[in-house]
Amino acid sequence: MMNRSNAQSITTSSGDADIIMGQMMPCPPNIPSLLEYAAHHHSTQRIISRRLEGDIHSYSYRDAYRRVCQLANALHTLGVKVGDRIGTLAWNGYRHFECYYAISGIGAICHTINPRLYGEQIEYIIRHAEDEYLFVDACFLNLLTPILPQLSSVKGIIVLIDESHMPDTHDLIIASKQSSFIVLNYEALLNGAGSDFNWPTLPPDTAACLCYTSGTTGNPKGVLYSHFSTVMHAYASRNPDALNVSADTVVMPVVPMYHVCAWGMPYIAAMAGATLVLPGDGMDGPALYELIEYAKVELMLGVPTVWLRLLEYLEENHLQIPSVKTVGVGGAASPKALVEALDKQHGIYLLPIWGMTETSPLATLGARTKAMENMSDDERYHIQTTAGKPMFGIEIEIFDDNNHVVTHDGKSRGFLRVRGPWVLRDYYKTDKANAFIEDAHGNEWFDTGDIAVIDENSYLKIVDRAKDVVKSGGEWISSIDLENAALEHESVSEACVIGVKHVKWDERPLLFVVPHPPLTHKQSADHPEPQVSEQELTLKESIQSFLATKVAKWWLPDDILFVNELPHTATGKLQKRTLRDQYWEYLIQQK
Ligand code: AMP
Repeated sequence: MMNRSNAQSITTSSGDADIIMGQMMPCPPNIPSLLEYAAHHHSTQRIISRRLEGDIHSYSYRDAYRRVCQLANALHTLGVKVGDRIGTLAWNGYRHFECYYAISGIGAICHTINPRLYGEQIEYIIRHAEDEYLFVDACFLNLLTPILPQLSSVKGIIVLIDESHMPDTHDLIIASKQSSFIVLNYEALLNGAGSDFNWPTLPPDTAACLCYTSGTTGNPKGVLYSHFSTVMHAYASRNPDALNVSADTVVMPVVPMYHVCAWGMPYIAAMAGATLVLPGDGMDGPALYELIEYAKVELMLGVPTVWLRLLEYLEENHLQIPSVKTVGVGGAASPKALVEALDKQHGIYLLPIWGMTETSPLATLGARTKAMENMSDDERYHIQTTAGKPMFGIEIEIFDDNNHVVTHDGKSRGFLRVRGPWVLRDYYKTDKANAFIEDAHGNEWFDTGDIAVIDENSYLKIVDRAKDVVKSGGEWISSIDLENAALEHESVSEACVIGVKHVKWDERPLLFVVPHPPLTHKQSADHPEPQVSEQELTLKESIQSFLATKVAKWWLPDDILFVNELPHTATGKLQKRTLRDQYWEYLIQQK
């Protein structure tokens, strides 16, 4: 006989029906349970951090858990309550890791702030989030001093540094203009706190972490991750067909913990009991090389530019990194030149990844497969320059202008939309944006703003951001494809393509190149040299004829400009809008 208390009425397409509920324990895992698990079952596995104090710090998950409990007690003493937003402004390090767990664990919201944003944007997001306290690396305190008078919600700052290195914080207290404002040392705060803590039982949808988009158009928007979405994202991401993280893996997220939770690695590593290596502010070649060798890192995560710089350093110094097996690359398309250099020079597999702040961020990955063993290099590199396939839980689809699904043939382009348990449903404290679109079956999708193709085997490839694609005579030129083709030229260290105004074709591509080695005279994007040197002309011709072997003739850029550096956003992406504003009339003025 059916136990009625175990039934629930639902409405289906054929009318109302009673469904029978499962009878399993309601114990959804939450964020503190990830670390609790690591502390109990992988207690001696290490978390290794480069500290701003200058040394390398190493401790166990058991030690980390004890300090997280101390921090949770300290947060209660400070009066932090469920739902309060607590900001962090910090590099990848063990104290930042502790903040992640303690803040979310007590039911408050860990709001990671990107220090590379402009002062006004940092001010905007702290005010928008109404952060109560800020946990800050000492090197970022100067970012706060000028904006502190405007941050009326902030009651105090906790400086993430040893007591013996505590800087003079007198200016901050004056700047705050609040008599009760406090500035504390993190270690002093922990010293007085007990090391036992009873984590509250929180509904799985409780907000855990808040991250703002980098805001290339308009103000940054907040994405509020829940305990459930974070744990689901970690479960999916550690799988063999995704990042493949086990207790044996040594992982180093070079992608910062202030942007989309270092792609979830602080949670994934604890769930797996993996050794977690946190590089602090040491993102350059020498610092990364030292830490890779020290910790024997196997898996690293980051944007392409980090790896291009590391490879340059390794090549110049004739160094190898034999412990590294895989480098996960996302945030931008993986250029073939990078895939090939990692493979041929170091035997490293470039694992392509696509995701966004709005998707927690990992959504699609191109894991190594057995079939690849029998492929030619070119066939394998072709897959590695896609963005991979969706993980279980994530649905992706491409749509045309009329909201119809586009064929998955690897050629037909469409607007990329996505849905799943770790995809946002709304932006934080913002009216429903027009980025949410219903399909013909009433399912809601998040419109990513990317244009993509999907092939017969489900591999996704991002063609462009919808706003960056070059619209030439009614046809689209992919700025990403053109940039990646240019990057294969031996003298191109970085490339950026923008669409600029053209009388006949509406828009034509203009290519900016950072040459390697640099040209002998100086230019910048702000002040390109009016005189074109012989050297420049030769390099221009060489790049144009090289591109002619890689792309269709009508894709060739109308001009190439050499610059010493290119503008980047706070998350390391090319800041195309700045160049577009500056160069929009360039071709017209050249006539
Ligand atoms: P963010 O929210 O700052 O992480 O930026 C997300 C955006 O980065 C995406 O919408 C894409 O435009 C871009 N992106 C991320 N991964 C890739 C990839 N594998 N290929 C091309 N673009 C990517």
